[in-house]
Amino acid sequence: MGGPKNNPAQADVLVIGGGPAGMFAAAAAVMSGAKVTLLEKNDRLGRKMSITGGGRGNLTNTASLHDFINNVPGNGSFLFSALTRFSSADCRKFFKNLGVPTKEEECGRVFPVRERAGEVVDTLAEYLAASGVQVIYQVRAAGLLLANRRCQGIITGGRRVFSGKTVVIATGGASYPQTGSTGDGYLLASQAGHQVAPRHPGLVPLCLAEQHLCRHLQGLSITDASLTLATAAGKTIAAERGDVLFTHFGISGPAALRLSRAVAPKTAAAGAGGLRLLMDVLPDISEENLAASLLSMAAEQPRKAVINIIKQILPGRLAAACAKMLQGSEHQKSGETSKGAWREAARLFKNLPFTVTGTRPLAEAMITIGGVSVREIDPRTMASHLVDGLYFAGEVIDVDAHTGGYNMQVAFSTGWSAGLAAAEEAGFPAAAIPR
Ligand SMILES: Cc1cc2nc3c(=O)[nH]c(=O)nc-3n(C[C@H](O)[C@H](O)[C@H](O)COP(=O)(O)OP(=O)(O)OC[C@H]3O[C@@H](n4cnc5c(N)ncnc54)[C@H](O)[C@@H]3O)c2cc1C
Repeated sequence: MGGPKNNPAQADVLVIGGGPAGMFAAAAAVMSGAKVTLLEKNDRLGRKMSITGGGRGNLTNTASLHDFINNVPGNGSFLFSALTRFSSADCRKFFKNLGVPTKEEECGRVFPVRERAGEVVDTLAEYLAASGVQVIYQVRAAGLLLANRRCQGIITGGRRVFSGKTVVIATGGASYPQTGSTGDGYLLASQAGHQVAPRHPGLVPLCLAEQHLCRHLQGLSITDASLTLATAAGKTIAAERGDVLFTHFGISGPAALRLSRAVAPKTAAAGAGGLRLLMDVLPDISEENLAASLLSMAAEQPRKAVINIIKQILPGRLAAACAKMLQGSEHQKSGETSKGAWREAARLFKNLPFTVTGTRPLAEAMITIGGVSVREIDPRTMASHLVDGLYFAGEVIDVDAHTGGYNMQVAFSTGWSAGLAAAEEAGFPAAAIPR
């Protein structure tokens, strides 16, 4: 007790941040035989991890390495080594060995069989404690201790010093700050001279100018729509396909969340109001075929009101909104409606026009886009190119992925690589991955 060997303030490997990246860095380092201290500013580990997948814990994805990297639009190729060294299959085995079996759901999403993310975090915390990792809670790293281009530890706001032969920064991004991820790692990285790419909200709902319409459609979910984002001049910026949910301020759902990656930097640069969004609510049918279907429906049911024909192909509230957007009366008999009007209707359903004013704020975003530049980090070890003894892991790095368990696996894989390499630099050769 109290001897220098057990003193948590003098570690071989000092890990800052107890999210998935920090926990896996600590696990890999302690497995290598290093004395590891993990500093977490909350009173418990993994607060953000506990709410992933709606609390069910979407831990990883079974996608092949190639498909995985394609699902990481922000610097995916940087992850090649880390994902090879510690893959999603390794991750599932690791959890299975801890007594957390996992199962695969649609699109390769992996969840714990018992579907409780909080229980997975508790199991990890118990495992770290049993392995000898010293976890110190309610300690916030405020600055790095740097000397002769080497990181030797951190200092807290209260001037407490924690030294480490090597230091891993795993402080997460800046979204959902109530979970503890308040962007501290960017300041620590800047202190070491690292470039930090501008931060934007990622995987976040979109705000639309058509407030009245959004309020009318609030809660309406469209299964499989195609969204195209374009400049005011009509140049396509990005397109996504998937489910869309109308909210009182705009749209959410997987397709909107994925599209947000393209929206946030553009609206930040160009200001609100400049982006157009076209929503195709019937993406599997061409405009010509849709027009032909509408015309034949109208011919077969000439006495039906236009609105009732439209309701046969669109959900009720959307049908009513579209009917209002069309010229002429929604209550006009379909047989009295011109061919041109039906063609116009088909064009509208394939190109519902909206104006994107921006995204919801970073505080409401699932992830942070941007972060510590990958150009200054060794992709094999996560080591800083600028300062010896300094490593990065997880969302603090300028890497961002789609939804589906990819972001969690990025945290696990980069954490694992950083932990092994930090232990090795501290004098403890790399441990074998448990298989
Ligand atoms: C609502 C929501 C749902 C999500 N769902 C999914 C999902 O289904 N699948 C998926 O793959 N991803 C999901 N994500 C994203 C995923 O949770 C993150 O990408 C992941 O948690 C990042 O891990 P991390 O360890 O890098 O950072 P974090 O999980 O953010 O952990 C960082 C830790 O560092 C601590 N810390 C910060 N600064 C300091 C400091 N100065 N000193 C000490 N400690 C500090 C924080 O308190 C925190 O515990 C979701 C995110 C949110 C917000």
